[in-house]
Amino acid sequence: MTEADLIVHGIDWLITVDAERRILRDAAVAIKDGKFAAVGKSADIQKAWTSRDSFDAGNRVATPGLIDSHLHSSFQLARGLADEVGTRPFLFEHMFPYEGAMSADDVYVSSLLTTMSLLRCGVTCFIDPGNYHPQATGKAALAAGMRTVLGRSAFDMTKAVLGILPKAMIETTDQAIANNRALLDHVAELDNPKIRGSVSFRGLSNSSDALISACHAMAREHDCMLQTHACFNYSTHDDCLGNFGLPEIERLEKLGVLDEHTLLVHAGWIEPKETEIITRRRPQLVSAPSSSLHNGYGNFMRGRLPELMEMGINVGLGSDHACSGITDLVQEMLLFAGAYKEIHMNPRVVSPEQVVEMATINGARCAGQQDAIGSVEVGKEADLVLFDSRYPEWQPLFNPVSNLVYSATGNSVTDVWVAGDRVVENGHLSKVDEAEILEQVARTMGGIGKKLNIDKLVKLGWPVS
Ligand SMILES: [Zn+2]
Repeated sequence: MTEADLIVHGIDWLITVDAERRILRDAAVAIKDGKFAAVGKSADIQKAWTSRDSFDAGNRVATPGLIDSHLHSSFQLARGLADEVGTRPFLFEHMFPYEGAMSADDVYVSSLLTTMSLLRCGVTCFIDPGNYHPQATGKAALAAGMRTVLGRSAFDMTKAVLGILPKAMIETTDQAIANNRALLDHVAELDNPKIRGSVSFRGLSNSSDALISACHAMAREHDCMLQTHACFNYSTHDDCLGNFGLPEIERLEKLGVLDEHTLLVHAGWIEPKETEIITRRRPQLVSAPSSSLHNGYGNFMRGRLPELMEMGINVGLGSDHACSGITDLVQEMLLFAGAYKEIHMNPRVVSPEQVVEMATINGARCAGQQDAIGSVEVGKEADLVLFDSRYPEWQPLFNPVSNLVYSATGNSVTDVWVAGDRVVENGHLSKVDEAEILEQVARTMGGIGKKLNIDKLVKLGWPVS
C-alpha cells in the first residue's frame, strides 16, 4: 500500500479530459503532495492506496478545475454599470472611467469577489488581461487559494479613433513597459506556482507599434504569454484601419508578434486574410460568449472559431467581466455552443465535448500550463471540482458531459480542490470569510460611488420608490 494525503472516492462520474478523454464510473483519485498520484476505479485505488484523509464523493460528477481564460478581476464590482451601450461608450464612458477611479484596495476587494464567484462555480484558474493594480489581484487569489495568470494593463496612446483615455490610464511607452516588467518581477518574488505572470497590452487601439513590439520581446525574454484584446467587434476593426491602415491581425503579423505564445481575446471580427494568418501563426484564441451577447459585438455572426478549432487552433473560454452579467464558466459553455448552433442553423456545430475542452485543457494551453493543469491525470496538479448530481438540473443523468453543458450551472458545485487543498467546502469558500467579502464590497462601492457618478451609469428602466 502506498500512502496518499487524500483519497476522493466513490465519484459517480469522473470526466477526466485526459489524453484518451476517459469518463470513469465509481472512480477515485489519490492525491499526494498536491498532485494526482493515482486516477482509476474506486476499488482499485482503495486496494493500492491508503491515506490519512478521505472524501466520499457519492452522487457527484467530477471534472478537472475549470479555467477561465479571460476575466477582468477589477470589473467584478461593475455589474449593472454598463448595460445597453455600444463599444465606444462601453469603454470610454463607462468602464475606463470606472477603472481609472479604482485604488489598489478597490481592486483587492473586486478580486476577492472574483475568487468567490469563480471558485464557487468550479473555476480554479483565471487569466486576467490586466488592470492597474495586478499585485492586489494576486494577493486576493492567494488568499482564496486559487490560481491566476496576472497581467498589467498597458496603453501608451492617449487618443484613438474610438476615444480618449481617462487621465489615470495615460502612460508613456516607457512607463507602460516598466510597469509590465515590475509585475513580472513581483511574480518572480512571490515564487508561488499558483501565481503566474504574463505581458499585456490592453488592446490595439491606444497601443503604439513600439509598445506592442516591446511587450512581445519582454514576453519572449520571460518565457510567458503575451496577451491582448483583438477583433472584438467592428469598432475595433474600424479603429485599427483608421489609425494604422491595417486590420488588427494583419497589424500584429506585420509587427512579427504572432506566435503560439500570443493570446488573442475575442478574435470574433476577422477578415478572410486574417483567418489565414491565424491558421499559419497559431496564436491561442479565447471566446467570451456572454460579453458578446450582452453587448452585441457580432462575434458569433462574424466569428470563425468553430472552423478554426477544426483546423487545430486552440480556443479557450472566458467570462470576460461581471458588467456583462455572468462570470460562470459552466453557463458560458452553453452560450458558446448554443450561439454557434443557432447562427449555423446546425446542431452538429460545436459539440458539448468541445466546449468542455475549451473550459479545461484548452484553457490550460492558453495559460501556458498544459503540462500542469486542465485534466485529471497522474502527475498533474490536483485541481478537482465536484458537482452534486442531486440538483434537479442534473437529473436524469445518462451523459454527464451533456448535462454539464446543456442543463447545469456552476451553482451545483459543492467542493473544489486546488493543488490538493480543499478551497470550497459544501459550496462555500474555506479560506476566506464570505460574509466579510460582501461587507467589504458594500463599503468599497460606497467609496467608488463618491468618485464616480454611478447614477449616471446605471440605467433603471422602471421607476423605483
Ligand atoms: Zn476583456
